[in-house]
Amino acid sequence: METHWNTTEVDTMPHRWPADTDFRFWELDVLDRDCASCGRMMHICDHRYRHFYTLEGPVELVCKLNHCPNPDCPGHAKTKSPEMEATIALPAWAIGWDVFCWIGHRRFARHWSIPQIRHELIDSYAIELTEPCIALYVQRYQTMLAARQQDFEAMRRQYEGVDDIILTIDGLQPEKGHETLYVVRELTQKRVWFAVPLLSATAPEVQRLIAQAKQWAEILGKRVILWVSDKQDAFVTGIAAEFPEVPHRYCDNHFLRDAAKPVLEADSHAKVQMRRKVRGLRKIEQAVLKHERESAEQNPAINDPEATLTVSTESVNPKATEVDSACAVVLAYCTAVRGILNDDQGGPLNPPGLRMTAALNDVRDSIQRNLDAKKGGLQKSNLAAWPRA
Ligand SMILES: [Zn+2]
Repeated sequence: METHWNTTEVDTMPHRWPADTDFRFWELDVLDRDCASCGRMMHICDHRYRHFYTLEGPVELVCKLNHCPNPDCPGHAKTKSPEMEATIALPAWAIGWDVFCWIGHRRFARHWSIPQIRHELIDSYAIELTEPCIALYVQRYQTMLAARQQDFEAMRRQYEGVDDIILTIDGLQPEKGHETLYVVRELTQKRVWFAVPLLSATAPEVQRLIAQAKQWAEILGKRVILWVSDKQDAFVTGIAAEFPEVPHRYCDNHFLRDAAKPVLEADSHAKVQMRRKVRGLRKIEQAVLKHERESAEQNPAINDPEATLTVSTESVNPKATEVDSACAVVLAYCTAVRGILNDDQGGPLNPPGLRMTAALNDVRDSIQRNLDAKKGGLQKSNLAAWPRA
């Protein structure tokens, strides 16, 4: 998160609009004009002018305020604002909900910094907000999101058709240098239950979070059938203490990550061995090129473009053509093998060394097919049947 601005100060700071701002004009009426106290038709008693940004441009909004015309009615001293006003922009905001959501989305879904958001608002929407102002909206967005996330009624609705739940816990570092955020997440509904920043994740502190998850599950009336996490000691002891009957499984992702390290090390070692064994490509290529040059000198017609125009195919030495295409095949094999040796693609599930072995075996099989074909009197090159190196 960015610098902590003094947000109360920003809150009271009115936005300064340039004199030539081209506002669109919106007008809002009170829809239900019956006085809440006496039922009489209310009158317009005042207008409130508001200015704010929307993604479509700046807006001037006029809200017609109503009150009861009867001076003896309690509804006379109060004013009623148009019902729709808060659905466009909250009171005192310099932006509409659309800009607010845009900022929150860029900040939390795209992880943009506040200066980045500020510049993009200027560049794409001509919306001029200061950094402290954006920080304030980001903070409000976060507050609303947290309130919604912890609304038990919404949660109860989401879990209506669910009997058994699966819980996970993990520590995340949201940004470098910040405390680790411990997140409890429920897997069947893919919902973050809560997140608590812990400066030091001691076993009692972590156990407190697991106890909180237990309490939530009890409030919802759901049975926890499984816990999934990495095998951090605090998780193992905390889950065993709060959920003695519930199995605790090692997270697939963490397991794979931990297993991947030795696998990739062994694979990398195997790769080095293979590279050591398959060598001498350059020597083969040089020999072939030399051979080609020499045969070209003996048969100048083949490589002389001027001559080729006038020489018919029958007059070309068939022996020389065969040598030429054999050279091309050898060079192509060399290129393929070099490509295979330089290929570092793949990961723990498809290790580069295993890919290399498979590709080298394919080349060997291909060469063997060529040799077999030659023995059988077939002159056709097998290059077309090659696997992609
Ligand atoms: Zn009244």
